[in-house]
Amino acid sequence: MEKLAIDGGVPVRTSPVPGSMHGVAEIAEPEVEAVLNVLRKKRVFRWFGDGQASEADALEAQYRELTGRKYALAVSSGSAALHCALVGVDCGPGDEVIVPAYTFIATAAAVVAAGAVPIIAEVDNSLTLDPEDVERKITPRTKAIIPVSMRGTPPRMEELLAIARRHGLAVVEDVAQANGACYRGRPLGSLGEAGCFSFQHYKIITSGEGGMLVTDDEATFQRARMQHDGAMGFWGEPPAGIPPILGTNYRLSELAAALVLGQYPRLAGLLESFRAIKQRILSQILDLPGIELQEVPDPAGEAGISLIFFCKDGERAKAFSRALSAEGIGNGTIYDNTIPDRHIYRHWSFFMRDDTDPRRLPWKHPRYTGDVRYFPEMCPRSLDYLGRSVAVGIHQRLTEQDADDIARGIRKVALALG
Ligand SMILES: *Cc1c(COP(=O)(O)O)cnc(C)c1O
Repeated sequence: MEKLAIDGGVPVRTSPVPGSMHGVAEIAEPEVEAVLNVLRKKRVFRWFGDGQASEADALEAQYRELTGRKYALAVSSGSAALHCALVGVDCGPGDEVIVPAYTFIATAAAVVAAGAVPIIAEVDNSLTLDPEDVERKITPRTKAIIPVSMRGTPPRMEELLAIARRHGLAVVEDVAQANGACYRGRPLGSLGEAGCFSFQHYKIITSGEGGMLVTDDEATFQRARMQHDGAMGFWGEPPAGIPPILGTNYRLSELAAALVLGQYPRLAGLLESFRAIKQRILSQILDLPGIELQEVPDPAGEAGISLIFFCKDGERAKAFSRALSAEGIGNGTIYDNTIPDRHIYRHWSFFMRDDTDPRRLPWKHPRYTGDVRYFPEMCPRSLDYLGRSVAVGIHQRLTEQDADDIARGIRKVALALG
């Protein structure tokens, strides 16, 4: 057995391993040209009535093509896409929406923004929604489920779609972290009633801020459209049979749309790199003692931006993470009580505090007949998995040598810790 670097041994790696941002790290001439072109045209608002093509229109066409859906709506953020999608599937006060215990707080916040009540369900060893817990949490008030592809992992869509069908629920996919990924050959975002993407700085391709909603259902699209632009329902004829909605402003800027359009041709190549690098590392760490790999519901379709394994307990995960860092391999634990990570429900203080303004709590609304309770330990299995996780980020610039060093580091630490 090799002596660990943390105990004074020779580290696997002394030069840094590439990491950090994906799309944003690739910004180059095509993106610069695309944005400058908008400035040269002096056309920075999509509805400007000069008959010229809009960047937002072109981006929507791209996402209709990517997902094969009839409708796409460019919006100002992933959060806006989720809010519009929930309004789109007709969620509102009195309704419950099931969200995973592990997702960015924006998923739950969008439910509250729509006036509905988030119901927090467990994640399983895929770190995505646990279908069994979803089924347990369905009530007569449940209107929708939001499966989230955390860190590029597709959720267990087959099971979730079957449950939704059985109970007559809408499925709104949160694909913010898995742009371009698939589930069993179908693009994420194309499986539920609506799919929501984010182009925020940390996502796979980016415009700093931005989002996209896709759907096949006309009424969903029309309601989402009205929500995303306060004036929309009042320009010309409102769509037949759909009561007007007084929306806000979630329009996407032409500059942002042009920037994502500039990034878009890189998307397929980025995913190809992530997947190849991840598979190369995985193939070298399949037989190790003391670690269990995250289960990925569709390994061929996942985005591949993250490699996660579970240790036997939280202490061991922290020790593993420290030892791996000492080997020169960047990594992190996921849940550690001391950092208020907003990706874990326990840190969504809005729900847990008693001094939150009760006027803003959808579960105090007169139309709400349920009795939801939120408390820090409400999803113990999620906290257990998250607490035992060690995650290594996968970057498109990792070489085969980098991948082999990462695998060697993981092997070395696993064999030493036993
Ligand atoms: C980033 C993110 C969002 C929100 O997207 P924004 O564009 O930042 O509003 C929603 N859900 C998940 C899982 C995310 O990672």
